[in-house]
Amino acid sequence: MSTSLASRVTGAELPLPYRVIARHADTDDTVTLELAYETAPLPAFAPGQFAMLTAYGIGEVPISLSGLPAPHETARRLTHTLRAVGAVTRALHAAGPGTVIGVRGPFGTTWDVPSAAGHDVVVVAGGIGLAPVRPIVQAVLAERDRYGEVVLLVGARTPADLLYRDDLDRWAAAGVQVGVTVDRPAEGWNGHVGVVPALVASARFRPGRSVGFVCGPEVMMRFTARALTDRGVPASRVRVSLERNMRCGAGWCGHCQLGPLLLCRDGPVVDYARAEPLLDVREL
Ligand SMILES: Cc1cc2nc3c(=O)[nH]c(=O)nc-3n(C[C@H](O)[C@H](O)[C@H](O)COP(=O)(O)OP(=O)(O)OC[C@H]3O[C@@H](n4cnc5c(N)ncnc54)[C@H](O)[C@@H]3O)c2cc1C
Repeated sequence: MSTSLASRVTGAELPLPYRVIARHADTDDTVTLELAYETAPLPAFAPGQFAMLTAYGIGEVPISLSGLPAPHETARRLTHTLRAVGAVTRALHAAGPGTVIGVRGPFGTTWDVPSAAGHDVVVVAGGIGLAPVRPIVQAVLAERDRYGEVVLLVGARTPADLLYRDDLDRWAAAGVQVGVTVDRPAEGWNGHVGVVPALVASARFRPGRSVGFVCGPEVMMRFTARALTDRGVPASRVRVSLERNMRCGAGWCGHCQLGPLLLCRDGPVVDYARAEPLLDVREL
C-alpha cells in the first residue's frame, strides 16, 4: 500500500490484515479468535462495539468485540467470538492460527460501562449474545470497587451450547451472581430450565440503583427489558444491542436502518426507552 493511500485509510474504509494467533472452540459451532495486527493496528475497541471481519474471497460480516486484553497484554489484540451460521461465518470459524483475515472498525456505540459506576450491574444474555457482554463483566471486575452488585444471567439452548464455562465459574467464585438456564436440559443438568428473562425476578439487585445490559435474540431482549423495568429499573438505564443486516459499518449505505436509526452508527447499543417502539419493526 502506498504511503498516501495508507495515510487516508482510517480502518473504517479498508480492511487491515490481522492474523489469527489463537483459536478456541467454545462449542460445536462457535469459536473465539484472538487476532494480532500485521501492518498497523486499528484504534482501540470499547465493549459493545463491533468489527467488520473479512474472510478473503468470501465476504465480510459484523462481529462484536468479545474480550478485553488482559492487563499485561497489548491493547492491540482483538478478541471475537462467532457462531458459524452461513458462508462467511463458516469460513471464519474454520480459520486456524496463522490465517490472515481482514478487519475494519471499531464501529458503533458502546455499552458505556463507566456510566454504571456506583450502580448495581445486571447483565442478561441469550445464546451468542453472551459474547458482546463478556467485556462488560471483564471491565467491571477490573475495577470492582466502583460498582455495586454484579449479576450475570445467561440462557442457552442446551448445556452443550453454553459459552465461556470457565469464565462463568471464575466469575461466580469472584462474587458475581451467575444464573444459568437452558431451554432443553441434558442428562446430569441440575440447573434451571426455561427462558432467561424468568431469572430476573429472583436476582438480587437494587432496581432504582441498577443499570441493565441485555443482548440476545430480539424476543429475549424485549421480555428481559420488560422484566427489568417491571422491577423498577428505569428504561433509560436498560441497554440493548440491536442487530440488523450491515454492510458499510459507518452509516453510509443505509442497510441497517431501523426507524430513525442507522444501527451501525447509532447502535448497536441503544437504551430501551429508545429501542422499545422499534423492536417490533421487522427487518426487510
Ligand atoms: C452489530 C452486530 C454484531 C454481531 N456480533 C456477532 C458476534 O459477536 N458473534 C456472532 O456470531 N455473530 C454476530 N453477529 C451476527 C453475524 O454478523 C451474522 O451471523 C453474520 O453476518 C452471518 O453472515 P454469514 O454470511 O455467515 O451468513 P448468512 O448467509 O448471511 O446468514 C445465515 C443465517 O444467519 C442469519 N443471520 C444473518 N445475519 C444475522 C444477524 N445479524 N443476526 C441474526 N441472524 C443473522 C440469516 O438470516 C441466515 O438465516 C453480529 C451482527 C451484528 C449486526
